Amino acid sequence: MLQGVQISRSSRRGCWLVIEPHYDDACFSYAGTMVAQRTTFDSLCILTIFSRSAYIVAGYASFVNERSVTKTVSTLRKAEGMRFAAAMAAETETCDLPEVLLRGYTATSAEPRVEDRLECRSRIQEAVRTMLARRPIGRLSFPLGAANHMDHKIVGDALLDLVADISAFLRQSEVLAYRESPYAFDDPLSVARRVSYVERKWPLILTPISQDTTDVMEQKLRLMGVFTSQLTDELSKIEAVDRQGMGDRPTCRELAWRVTGR
Ligand SMILES: [Zn+2]
Repeated sequence: MLQGVQISRSSRRGCWLVIEPHYDDACFSYAGTMVAQRTTFDSLCILTIFSRSAYIVAGYASFVNERSVTKTVSTLRKAEGMRFAAAMAAETETCDLPEVLLRGYTATSAEPRVEDRLECRSRIQEAVRTMLARRPIGRLSFPLGAANHMDHKIVGDALLDLVADISAFLRQSEVLAYRESPYAFDDPLSVARRVSYVERKWPLILTPISQDTTDVMEQKLRLMGVFTSQLTDELSKIEAVDRQGMGDRPTCRELAWRVTGR
């Protein structure tokens, strides 16, 4: 059985809302921070935006054969997300949007139409606004949107629009944009470019913060192991972790940016 985070005392800071584009993004990018800081919040809620798969074959583990349908992939990925959430003692919400067509499709078909992107953005903002209205959110974490993946950009843009629009929330709550793994490591300059783009486009300031996750890395590895459909074998699991600072380097870090109004 997966050993989870033990919540042994009542704490002080309301709900921590973590937004991820797909099941696995919060875990791969941010689980070390989540494990290290989980107990300082009364509750944790993970909102998965693109919680439905939209295609069939390539890119998944070999046990998802070519006849597998979208529903099978969606069910499989949801089950993995639920196991991670249970281990984190987290509630879950979804936007029930289908992910963009990437693996197994050509670059052209992967590009969503402009109206689809706008529709996604408003669906995401509506879902988050509803959650913010429901109870006090002590901290909101969402992906920076630096990943070379359309879904991540859509989520990042939607949240930046939203927090720029509700400046009262920015003043009252902690807002953090986290670095996406493993995408950020595919193109190291993409993160710096994105930070600079965000500060030009929105009236926001991004201040980097670094979480040392060395002490919780074993726990993060076990949590990453939940997502077997994304870690096709032991090698890819090691590779995914190595990119985050294991290997020869002595410490592991996760990066995020504190988002404040200008
Ligand atoms: Zn993702």
